[in-house]
Parts: sequence; C-alpha cells; structure tokens
Amino acid sequence: MNKPNNGTVTAYIGLGSNLADPVEQVRSARAECAAVPGVRELAFSSLYRSPPMGPQDQPDYVNAVMAVSTDLAAPALLHHLQHIEQVHGRVRVGERWTARTLDLDLLIYGEHRIETAELTVPHPGLSLRAFVLYPLFEIAPELVAPGLGRIADLIVNCPRGGLERIN
Ligand code: ATP
Ligand code: CA
Ligand code: CA
Ligand code: CA
Repeated sequence: MNKPNNGTVTAYIGLGSNLADPVEQVRSARAECAAVPGVRELAFSSLYRSPPMGPQDQPDYVNAVMAVSTDLAAPALLHHLQHIEQVHGRVRVGERWTARTLDLDLLIYGEHRIETAELTVPHPGLSLRAFVLYPLFEIAPELVAPGLGRIADLIVNCPRGGLERIN
C-alpha cells in the first residue's frame, strides 16, 4: 500500500456528500485525507452546494476539491480514499449516483493518465461537472488536466447549473 512511486506528485481529490450532515462529512473527510501518511494538504476550496446528478429524488450535494502533495502511487491513494468512504458509512447500491454519506474521487494525479479496471485518471466526469470544475478552478486557476486542457478553458463550456458557493 505504501510503495513509493516516482517521487512526489500533486493530486486533486473531489469530495461530495448528501447524507447525514454533508458539511460535517466533507470537513472531517478533509482532515482524514490530510492525515493519511504520505499525503499533505496543499489547498482546499470553498464548500459548494449542487443539485444531484442522476436520480433526482435525493438531497442536494455539498462538494469541495482538495489539492494534496503525495508520494503514494495512485492506486494506493485510491485505496486510502475508499477506506475513508467506508469509515463514513458509504453504502454501495446497484444504481449509479445515488445518495451517499461520502464520495472521494481522484480527479487528477500529477501529469499521469491512467486507464485501469479500477482507476481512470483524470476522472472521466471532470470536464462535464460544474461541481468539480468550479472548485478546482478556485484553488488551481492555472491547472491543466492531462489530455483535457486548461481548467480555465473547460469551465467556459460548463455552465454552473445550480452550483452555489456556501458561505
Ligand atoms: P462517478 O465515478 O461517475 O463520479 P461515483 O463516484 O458514484 O460515480 P463510485 O461508485 O464511487 O462512483 O465508484 C465506482 C468505481 O469507480 C470505484 O470502484 C473505482 O474503482 C472506480 N474509479 C475509476 N476511476 C476513479 C477515480 N478517478 N476516482 C475514484 N474512483 C474511480
Ligand atoms: Ca499526512
Ligand atoms: Ca463521484
Ligand atoms: Ca466515487
């Protein structure tokens, strides 16, 4: 799990929750991500509220994006994120995009492009999702998503929809 890879990488993690006090879920997940050995927080966006994707009969989401510096390999980082989801009582059901206590997506992992059975990086939803692009742009306005282009350019083609920054 803690196999060192090719040095230190800047990675971006998307956080989301719409159950059981979502603001607190995201706040505590931030601390838990930063507490993973080999992970250090670099930046954390504002919290945002967004309407659900997919099934509409569920509460709005609270979303944020975190930048970290890590010397973990991408699969090891994903496993830590999945463990944190489990600790938050994430229940996986058959249907996609249903309500959850916590979702942690690995959005970007340095310059890497990864396509394995368990991991696609950059995250395939990145260029289409306001709740990813706007918080990402807030903390990394110059960022280029490998293979996708500048976040500043992607955001132009992605309306905010119902996304709102939470004060
Ligand atoms: P979406 O991936 O569209 O945001 P979701 O977050 O609801 O939907 P999950 O049920 O959380 O999807 O994850 C399904 C699988 O996606 C996980 O088991 C994981 O192996 C895989 N996966 C692939 N790429 C990534 C990534 N970049 N970050 C997190 N999980 C990923
Ligand atoms: Ca740490
Ligand atoms: Ca997700
Ligand atoms: Ca996920």
